[in-house]
Amino acid sequence: MIELPFFTPEHRNLAQSVAQFAAREIEPHAGVEEDVEGLARHFVKVLAGAGLLNYAVAASKLDTRALCLVREELSYSSSLADLAFVMQGLGTFAIARAAPDHVREFWLARAANGKAIAAFALTEPDAGSDVAAIKTTARRDGETYVIDGRKRFISNAGIADFYTVFARTGTREDGRATLSAFVVSSKMQGFSVVERTSLIAPHPIGEIAFNECRVPAEDMVGNEGDGFRMAMETLDTFRASVGAAACGMARRALDEALSYASTRKQFGRLLAEHQLVQEKLADMVTELDAARLLVYRAAYARDTSEGRLTREASEAKLFATEAAGRIIDSAVQIHGGAGLVRGSVVERLYRDVRALRIYEGTSEIQKLVIAGQLMKEIRGLDR
Ligand SMILES: Cc1cc2nc3c(=O)[nH]c(=O)nc-3n(C[C@H](O)[C@H](O)[C@H](O)COP(=O)(O)OP(=O)(O)OC[C@H]3O[C@@H](n4cnc5c(N)ncnc54)[C@H](O)[C@@H]3O)c2cc1C
Repeated sequence: MIELPFFTPEHRNLAQSVAQFAAREIEPHAGVEEDVEGLARHFVKVLAGAGLLNYAVAASKLDTRALCLVREELSYSSSLADLAFVMQGLGTFAIARAAPDHVREFWLARAANGKAIAAFALTEPDAGSDVAAIKTTARRDGETYVIDGRKRFISNAGIADFYTVFARTGTREDGRATLSAFVVSSKMQGFSVVERTSLIAPHPIGEIAFNECRVPAEDMVGNEGDGFRMAMETLDTFRASVGAAACGMARRALDEALSYASTRKQFGRLLAEHQLVQEKLADMVTELDAARLLVYRAAYARDTSEGRLTREASEAKLFATEAAGRIIDSAVQIHGGAGLVRGSVVERLYRDVRALRIYEGTSEIQKLVIAGQLMKEIRGLDR
């Protein structure tokens, strides 16, 4: 895959060096499920030490192929390390594009050198897929905005030093929100972490609340009303990279399945010599190749052309995350009972991969986006 013309020699070197870094620094911690927050902090520190956070925190243009390659290699070992990496990008993308210079420089430098952990706070109890239903408000009061509301399923809640928060600063005639974005430090009065949520797989995540949380007006990112567009641009940019993370996990599952099938014997033959197992392996590698082609096509297109390339990114996320679910399921099946043993690599992947079909837009939402874009293209409204 890496030999395809999607990549420059720098990308090829990067993929190789991140694979070596992950084998050395990440893999030894991969199965650890205690003190998830401490481990996430540790991963941010070692990723910063290796200079890798610069591929997520982009002061100028993000190199989407590099972002995807790093995510694929980290996810091969640990989805927690991948999360530690990508959240620094998701939490700073809008800031990099639209915050006042001094705010931008302050947080970007800290995020890139691992001194501050970032988060992206969009989802609420009543606003998941339906972002415009956001109830959290930001009310202007002199030179400040006063934020009130709750956000749930916020990755890094509890360990983040700052949050890019999307809040309602107005309401349209149809009742939908006009959104604006703010940088909120975890030290601000009125900010609190109200719940640490335990998920199916290790992931620092929780619910946060704003209770008359007063932030300086200069911490608004962009202009009033730009929030919805910035949230969508962030998700659009990072979407293909969720597919890349899925590919890393699927590639690991395939490697584990191949290795097991090449050593375990039943009925006097290796599992890999049974045709029904071979069928699974053939489907797994074909789906993985197709997923990687979609992911790196989307990343390449984003890096080399103008426009948002929404459809390509959504196709990549949709197909790669769904395919990874199927590939990892087959890897568990090939392992038989051994695939269900707590702590085995494929058992861990089976739990880890599930979230990818839900966060940053569920599979159903990706299908709506793809169809919506297709309709625009047919009517000649886009491209
Ligand atoms: C591990 C994890 C990490 C996350 N991290 C973050 C984060 O850092 N920041 C953040 O802001 N959010 C985060 N989220 C939240 C995530 O983005 C939402 O969970 C997701 O957008 C779905 O929203 P919801 O859970 O409210 O589900 P809902 O929107 O209630 O959807 C429930 C179901 O209904 C379907 N559905 C909804 N609308 C439609 C429709 N129009 N047509 C067809 N089907 C539909 C959905 O596809 C889904 O299957 C995270 C979630 C998870 C699981």
